[in-house]
Amino acid sequence: MIKLIYIVGLTILLMISFSSCEKNKDGNNSNSKCFSEELKISCESQGKVCINKNCVEKKLEEDLCKDFVCNNGSCVIENNKPICKCNENYHEINKTCVSNTKKIKCKDVAPENASSDIIDVDTDPNSIDTPKRLAKMYVNEIMSGRYNSSPSVTAFPNTIKDGDEEEVYYDGMLITRCPITSVCSHHHQPIKGEVFIGILPEKKVLGLSKYSRIVDWVGRRGILQEAATIEICNEIMKVAQCEDVAVYMEATHGCCENRGIKLANSLTQTARLEGCFKDSESVRSEFYSQIQLSKMGK
Ligand SMILES: [Zn+2]
Repeated sequence: MIKLIYIVGLTILLMISFSSCEKNKDGNNSNSKCFSEELKISCESQGKVCINKNCVEKKLEEDLCKDFVCNNGSCVIENNKPICKCNENYHEINKTCVSNTKKIKCKDVAPENASSDIIDVDTDPNSIDTPKRLAKMYVNEIMSGRYNSSPSVTAFPNTIKDGDEEEVYYDGMLITRCPITSVCSHHHQPIKGEVFIGILPEKKVLGLSKYSRIVDWVGRRGILQEAATIEICNEIMKVAQCEDVAVYMEATHGCCENRGIKLANSLTQTARLEGCFKDSESVRSEFYSQIQLSKMGK
């Protein structure tokens, strides 16, 4: 009996998630999981607030911030959620506040006359400035994503007036291909590849170059491919204010090619699927077929 209830429950749950994604894909966004205005209004009419898609009792700011960890910043409530607002001279990277002053630390990383067993600053005239040159390159270029805050991204409205109602204008899937350059955290060997971002836009769309800026910012910090895939997805969800986002990444790793196993032509593929890309088979397969199509045109 318990087993039967479990199966029926699971079927209903699957049907609900499937139907909501199908509606989203077809452009009827009224039941969308993304920032549903209706849910917000319904919660407010009960004297509650909407947090993580649930109506919950209004809490004081201190309550919501009680267990929220925020180093080098202070907890504030935004859209009924606690977020970390970084102190002056700090900026947010991966939900932590990082000091801005790291930007000017090349001098400390590699003093001008640094002597090293790896870099021959004593007998090779071309290497004399290399420690400083390397430090500058790391801080300003290769690892710049660690020291710079996220790129400023403007989101444009994606709505059209239908009488008194505002409807989503572009209701299809948007897929964009962005090159990525990074280095692995372990050996600082190059990672080179492509990132495909899929999104079912809600009431906002991003300028196309913004996707690439986000990919570049995440890549330039010395990161594992798995982590880069997740970070790109999280950032797109945040700036586009949408939960239906997918990220597929494929890359070659200098760590496998130049050292260690010395494999040429190896390829690493990772994916992060959220919202309807995770819940709906048809949305997911449309995403991957579009990627295939774009590769055929290359
Ligand atoms: Zn490595």
